[in-house]
Amino acid sequence: MANSKIALIYQRLVSLQEELKERNINLQVMDGGNYETLPEKLTELCVKNHVTHVYCNAEYEWDERQRDASVKNSLNKMDVAFATFHDTCLVKPTEIMNLKNEPYKVFTPYFKRWLEMTLRQLPGVPEKCSANDTGLKHSEDDNQYIESLISKTNRVGTGDSDAPNWPATASEITKKMNGFIIEFSPDYPKNRDIPSIEGTSKISPYLSIGALSPRQCLFHVLQEYGEDALSPEHGAYTWVKEIAWRDFYRYVMFHFPHVSRGLPFQKHYQYFKWENNQQHFDAWKAGETGYPIVDAAMIALKQTGWMHNRLRMIVASFYCKHLLLPWKWAEDYFMSQLIDGDYASNNGGWQWSASVGTDAAPYFRIFNPTTQSERFDPQGEFIKTWLPQLAHLSPKQVHEPSKHCDVQRLGYALPIVEHKASVARTKAQFKGFLAAL
Ligand code: FAD
Repeated sequence: MANSKIALIYQRLVSLQEELKERNINLQVMDGGNYETLPEKLTELCVKNHVTHVYCNAEYEWDERQRDASVKNSLNKMDVAFATFHDTCLVKPTEIMNLKNEPYKVFTPYFKRWLEMTLRQLPGVPEKCSANDTGLKHSEDDNQYIESLISKTNRVGTGDSDAPNWPATASEITKKMNGFIIEFSPDYPKNRDIPSIEGTSKISPYLSIGALSPRQCLFHVLQEYGEDALSPEHGAYTWVKEIAWRDFYRYVMFHFPHVSRGLPFQKHYQYFKWENNQQHFDAWKAGETGYPIVDAAMIALKQTGWMHNRLRMIVASFYCKHLLLPWKWAEDYFMSQLIDGDYASNNGGWQWSASVGTDAAPYFRIFNPTTQSERFDPQGEFIKTWLPQLAHLSPKQVHEPSKHCDVQRLGYALPIVEHKASVARTKAQFKGFLAAL
């Protein structure tokens, strides 16, 4: 887990403690040690405090499932009830199956079902509070409490600072989400691909630590726009679809546990020969590949713990298809750096990029990092923010500086691989592998 993510969890706990104190609730934080020691420590804590029920959200990774089975066993022996919920997803993984009662393996039919289920399961969406109704409504119901907190927040813009900013109080977090939804740009489907603008919500860190739930996201979209938001013509539809992708990767992890045990979804790819080239791996991590869009993204990740989705796709494609490096190494590296590190989404993203997962990009569809750069960072604004040695280059030069100037004199790297040759090698490698199956 990235240090930035650990810091966010601690900050959130500190805020939560304050927020609970106002309601005369005392928050205790226990260090459970590792997954082997946790069941016993938690049981001891419950017995000591006369706790009769333990509630938590289910986690779907293999080790976490084993851990929770031990926790349940240990608690039940001491007559403590243990109940899990499925609120890290909008739809519980077992509730969406195809006509043969098997889990879906591709996103589109899953998403269709997901939308139907989601609409059916959502609680009624209340009328919006008027602008001056800022008082908290007293309620015993936790959901209502959260909702009244949210409606208390002011309308804000999405990104008021260039530097990623991760507030940790409940009101700031819901304000961030709500602000994005309220100010929702109909151009989201287009803007979400441009790294130099604040075109996405940046709420993934909060979803990943459980400080926000996908239910809250959908609830507020519906509250703001009604069910229109769920028709493909509406700008918010694409955003809701992204939330569904998050659910889908959890769903895959639940139904196909091998993906969280180091194996590709398409199991035969476990025998694929990736290149264990440590030098290339180091250059990729350090942002020294000679491909500016890749390097700027990797440097930004290291310095901020954040990476834009389009850039994740570009650096991952370059890593898997130009360098042919093992996707598992990169999956681990991303988890160690990302403030929103989320096992299922990260694993799904890497398996997709390596063409070994569900809905995987076909192996022969390979991003050209230079044209991606020209398309999604046309003026080179993002690149120049993180690679100041290229700041004086023109928009034409900045995407492929080695073609236009002596990059070493600028203090920048020469390309570590040549685009066309790498693509040809990768295609041949995949083709040969599949032919030999
Ligand atoms: P928005 O565009 O505002 O989307 C709203 C929410 O939808 C996000 O917060 C996120 O929860 C969900 N979402 C959006 N895109 C995706 C997606 N492609 N897959 C799954 N959920 C999505 N996301 C993580 O949360 N944690 C990760 O560790 C992670 N690793 C990734 C690794 C790779 C190689 C790739 C290609 C993608 C990865 N993603 C991961 C998905 C995506 O990049 C981030 O969710 C997104 O950039 C978060 O930004 P946002 O909150 O502004 O998104």
